[in-house]
Amino acid sequence: MVIIMEAKATEDQIDNVVDHVNKTGLKARVVTGEERTIIGVIGDERYLEEAHFKTLPGVENVFRILKPYKLVSREFQKDSTIIKVNGTLIGNGHRVIIAGPCSVENEDQILKSAHIVKKAGANMLRGGAFKPRTNPYTFQGLGVVGLKLLQKAKIETGLPIVTEVLEAADVELVSEYADILQIGTRNMQNYQLLKAVGRINKAVLLKRGMSATLQEFLMSAEYILSEGNHQVILCERGIRTFVEYTRNTLDLNIVPVVKKLSHLPIIVDPSHGTGRTDIIIPMSLASLAAGADGLIIEVHPDPEKSVSDADQTLSPEKFEELMVKIKKLDAILS
Ligand code: PEP
Ligand code: MN
Repeated sequence: MVIIMEAKATEDQIDNVVDHVNKTGLKARVVTGEERTIIGVIGDERYLEEAHFKTLPGVENVFRILKPYKLVSREFQKDSTIIKVNGTLIGNGHRVIIAGPCSVENEDQILKSAHIVKKAGANMLRGGAFKPRTNPYTFQGLGVVGLKLLQKAKIETGLPIVTEVLEAADVELVSEYADILQIGTRNMQNYQLLKAVGRINKAVLLKRGMSATLQEFLMSAEYILSEGNHQVILCERGIRTFVEYTRNTLDLNIVPVVKKLSHLPIIVDPSHGTGRTDIIIPMSLASLAAGADGLIIEVHPDPEKSVSDADQTLSPEKFEELMVKIKKLDAILS
């Protein structure tokens, strides 16, 4: 249920509504908008009486959201969410380009990568320290050493860091180094992990499960918001289909549909979405043309030497070419 407060509602009136919600045993999530405050009621609301809340002072309207996801829905919040990460805005027309290697391999590699992507115009640096690998015998990431190297790259370049967290027990550790915590495709339905990142005050990049429906994707985001963290950026990274000429099928249809159903920003990962260096540039441009709020792309100083995902990693030259094309596309789109 959503309770819309009047524009002139006082703090006391808002607190009073929250008290009434708490007395029912459900949770209240207060969202303070530019014009008015909205209170979301979280939990099993079947036995709640809308009429009761309508009579409370300062309440303008009360209605139920019929979809299973509530806090992430446009019904709950009309205005698109804008997430601020170290001064960079994401969402509602503010776009972010996140680039860097699949994995942090060593100091030289990550520092070079950071300088390369920064020079070309990226806003943030990506790099996995904890790697979820399909094959247990392949490189699993440098762990804490990798996080420290990312920190060094951030100090040298000023680029905020996006890196993956694999398990709930590591959320605190990774938050010390990351500006955005990435939840990978394989963990989109790891509900303990989603709850754990829901309790921190840091942005979360939630990648779509490779077999997840749109509704499952939004329900996973709902897990994070329902714990109190509203700073969620969705990421389309390709899904499993019958096609065999690409690693995944980049489902760009989801971009405008998510924008209709949710107020959260959505970015696209054309590296994992295609698995092919030769089509990352056109699919990046297509993603932005479809309305994505940004891109996350794998870039390595020497892609052939990349220890993971070499086939889908752009060279510095190709990344620069992409950034030039993005500028041209911007001129057409704006
Ligand atoms: C990654 O970003 O390197 C990664 C492992 O992504 P995904 O979870 O989308 O496979
Ligand atoms: Mn990768």
